[in-house]
Amino acid sequence: MTDFAAVLLERDDEGKTMARLARLSDADLMDGDVTLAVRASAVNFKDGLAVTGRLPVVRRWPMVPGVDAAATVIASEHPRWQPGDEVILTGWGVGEAHLGAWSDRMRVSGDWLVRRPATLSPVEAMALGTAGLTVAEGLDRLLRHGVTPADGPVVVTGAAGGVGSMAVMLLARQGWSVTAVTGRPAETERLRQLGAAEVIGRELFAGPAKPLARERWAAAFDMVGSAVLAHVLSMLKPGGAAIACGNAAGMDLPASVAPFILRGVSLIGVDSVRVPTARRETIWSHLADTVDRHRLAAMTQVIPLADAIGAGRRIVEGDVAGRTVVAIG
Ligand code: NDP
Repeated sequence: MTDFAAVLLERDDEGKTMARLARLSDADLMDGDVTLAVRASAVNFKDGLAVTGRLPVVRRWPMVPGVDAAATVIASEHPRWQPGDEVILTGWGVGEAHLGAWSDRMRVSGDWLVRRPATLSPVEAMALGTAGLTVAEGLDRLLRHGVTPADGPVVVTGAAGGVGSMAVMLLARQGWSVTAVTGRPAETERLRQLGAAEVIGRELFAGPAKPLARERWAAAFDMVGSAVLAHVLSMLKPGGAAIACGNAAGMDLPASVAPFILRGVSLIGVDSVRVPTARRETIWSHLADTVDRHRLAAMTQVIPLADAIGAGRRIVEGDVAGRTVVAIG
């Protein structure tokens, strides 16, 4: 029996979430046909929600947070995986209903795994992580919907955060003129270096949204939800589309139907948790071939497992810029 380090979330008698660094053993691992030695994870907004208990994302107690993993297979009863294989796991309820990746070890279903492209290190894979998968899936949905860079600029809200920074970088790389929206003026230069053509504050999105406002963008990637997404919808050009990714400001959407029925605007949702495995393989191979490693490194900080709880608390306060990778093992 091996014992190993993991972040453990438990509930106290009042239902408050308690997070601590703990030692677990193989007997604590959940059912699955592949055992992994985790090499790196990441700090996603959802991990912050789990650590703080701000929204009830945890559906099993105790829980280990961490929705993203880059790992090495150490044992497998799954026909596709052998010891020594290098893999990526994101989503599928890991860190919510199944023990997550802020841990030296995991046991999971082999059906959830994607081979890590050889050109991506574990840290690079986790710098991309759920953020890269979400943006790549959103971009594909946008193109399949028929909206392209030729139709006009794209706006990215929550741009200084993890998914937002990723969206700025990947959209600019694909030829979009990107307007980055951030509440943190100090992040302006970094967002420009990631490829933003324009960086603006949140002022345009303050207060209740009008049904329609001046047409500005052909497309949007929204990490924020609530009134911000309502404003974004009211400002899209006719035939434009918004990719709804996040809820950093809330789950509500105080919008009107005017943009849909008077401008033919579309609202497209992305759920990275359940992207089918075959699509993930295509996306990961495309990301590995096209990502700008220097820009990816510039938007990423690497922290040890012992610092992950603090980073989880900070991300829900909107106090983390870019992507945070957790080095493990
Ligand atoms: P971050 O905390 O890194 O980024 C969120 C950003 O949103 C902040 O950095 C801030 O950007 C902005 N923001 C926060 N609060 C407010 C507010 N009240 N009003 C306006 N802007 C605000 O989180 P992530 O990038 O990891 O995740 C972003 C969102 O995407 C989350 O809601 C997350 O749950 C969701 N998500 C969804 C996925 C999916 O599959 N659909 C996958 C991954 C994440 P700034 O400082 O620049 O203004």
